[in-house]
Amino acid sequence: MILPKSHRLTPEQVIEVTAIVGQFGCSVQPIVGAVRTIYAIVGDERDDLMINRLEGLPYIERIDRIQSPFKLMDRRSDLATHRIRIGGVTLGEELLVIAGQCTIDPKNPNFFFETAAAVKEAGAHVIRGGVWKPRTNPYTFQGDNKSIEILMEASRQTGLPVDAEVMDEEQLQIALEAGVHMLQVGARNALNYSLLRSIGRAVARRDTIVLLKRSLHMGTLSEFISAAEYIAAFGNPNVILCPRGTSPALDGYRNHPDESITPLLKEKTWAPVVIDPSHSVGKAAYVPACSLAAVAYGADGLCIEAHVSPSQGIGDDPKQALTPDVLAETIAQAKQVWSLRHAPVAR
Ligand code: PEP
Ligand code: MN
Repeated sequence: MILPKSHRLTPEQVIEVTAIVGQFGCSVQPIVGAVRTIYAIVGDERDDLMINRLEGLPYIERIDRIQSPFKLMDRRSDLATHRIRIGGVTLGEELLVIAGQCTIDPKNPNFFFETAAAVKEAGAHVIRGGVWKPRTNPYTFQGDNKSIEILMEASRQTGLPVDAEVMDEEQLQIALEAGVHMLQVGARNALNYSLLRSIGRAVARRDTIVLLKRSLHMGTLSEFISAAEYIAAFGNPNVILCPRGTSPALDGYRNHPDESITPLLKEKTWAPVVIDPSHSVGKAAYVPACSLAAVAYGADGLCIEAHVSPSQGIGDDPKQALTPDVLAETIAQAKQVWSLRHAPVAR
């Protein structure tokens, strides 16, 4: 929809606007109001170049898009009936729980094996384990290729699928060759379009799932969904959106908790939403409440850091990881909230 700065376009301006949209296979239809005339773009109005050319005209106030920019991830797209399944759970039908260590310690693989068994026992469906880590400080532990074997061994031992973050093409190839079931795009890479493209292409012919974290600095929700659209457009529609808190932090938390965006995302996209409360609040003590809030807001799942002995963990685990007993309690309570949402009490 074209909104002019003045009450209506002059005949010369209509000719110029019609010529621009005509180059993109569209036409213009005036909608005459009592005070103001606006102009509908008839045809596929999703071409960014057409919008930019129109918005560049000095007499145009703005262009409001009626059509969604998401061809695949939109709630009303043909993919809307697509269902994602992992760890025996079809997203949307049952609460999905991903849990495990922030970081695998290659020097202490037994911790990871014990954590994997414990999170399975607590009710998790997917085991997470950081093989490579995006660390702010270049001198802290960055991860280790060797941890991929520890991750896959934990998968064999428990029979559960595993999730790990990849930050570049090399890690992507190693993870795919090893058979990682869920690839995590971290908050720092959620706007790395070449990585999103590579992931979409690389996993196109596999049933790999992508857990796309929300960037700390994503402006709009559309920017988040557009990142998912990249992965889908390049071949893999199995994308789960994962809000994990944004910057600047709420005083006392690690980030600004953002589980409350869940219903807003669901108005725009069919993509499942799995909340990461661990990075959102950043302290184990606050994770259970954030998890329950997430499910109350309509989340389809949770991605929670857990460790058999958090104080002996590395990366985020000493401060963020839940112990297996707290994880089990949190999962049980989250399931109760899920039931309340999905089978409201009769009045
Ligand atoms: C993580 O999952 O350990 C992690 C680093 O997440 P994020 O990208 O959300 O910071
Ligand atoms: Mn972490």
